Amino acid sequence: MQNISRRNFVASASAAAAAFGLDGPLEFIGSAQAQKYSNAALVDKGFHKFKIGDIEVTQIYDGIWNRELQDGFVKNAPLDQVKGELKAAGLAENIVPIPFTVTVVKIKGKTTMFDAGTGGQVQPTAGLMASKNMKAAGIDPAKIDNIVVTHFHPDHIFGLMAKDTNAQLYPNAAIYVPKTELAWWTGSSVPQAGAGLANRIKATLPTWKNVQQFEGDKEIVPGIRALAMNGHTPGHTSYVMGSGRRQLIVMGDVSNIPALFAKNPGWHAVFDSDAAMAEANRRKMMDRAIADKATVTGYHYSMPGAGTFKKDGSGYAFVPVKA
Ligand SMILES: [Zn+2]
Repeated sequence: MQNISRRNFVASASAAAAAFGLDGPLEFIGSAQAQKYSNAALVDKGFHKFKIGDIEVTQIYDGIWNRELQDGFVKNAPLDQVKGELKAAGLAENIVPIPFTVTVVKIKGKTTMFDAGTGGQVQPTAGLMASKNMKAAGIDPAKIDNIVVTHFHPDHIFGLMAKDTNAQLYPNAAIYVPKTELAWWTGSSVPQAGAGLANRIKATLPTWKNVQQFEGDKEIVPGIRALAMNGHTPGHTSYVMGSGRRQLIVMGDVSNIPALFAKNPGWHAVFDSDAAMAEANRRKMMDRAIADKATVTGYHYSMPGAGTFKKDGSGYAFVPVKA
């Protein structure tokens, strides 16, 4: 395995932040603010378990990025309107609280984790999954059979690799990645702002023996089917699984926080690489979830981070599962 130096890593981390859309100084706020946004007791507890038919689902809280709201965060809506939506959701109007929440399922006897958390390498206010919440949830990282990745943004994959050495943190798991996503990040189209992240990806995932690429909407591990939902990144993928008549969809980043982007599915967050495609897939996903009465999980939906959608005017409302 090719290691990258500490210096390169620091450079790559800041470039990654740029790729992620971090374009100004951060202000951190206390957990009280975050608690308005999500289930405070579950944030403190660090995990939530529920079942979809026979599927055992665990949502694990990894932390939060309290991002200062700046003009351009929503590329196609005026700043005042975005502030108004935050206020309407009971949030401070100058901060976008972006939580990180990882889904783990036990299905057909195997444990599969979707994405891997921040690994404490994205924001100082995140990394709780690895440091304590996975253990609190009773999940042994060494016993995770599969890790299925939605896309390669730092908050989703840095938890796969050690901070300074890039060493694998889940060497025993089979890691499934969308071929399109890997090809894009290891290809020549990544803009300069994403170069550091691309270098870290090149130094890790393609060299790991336990990484398996897949293409198309197919069953990748027993009971779990891929759903191409590109737009947020070129290969962004969601995953669907069913038990009886009940369905669970791990959406990944089909939308950022629901208070803004479920309510306003036509809003384009600064993070999307192809905003029009992301919007089309967001609407398709939310309509599908309603039609199928599916339970969904969203990586940035905080705790419990799982629920259903209903139509709400010209947009959608997210209804968390009972906890
Ligand atoms: Zn994300």
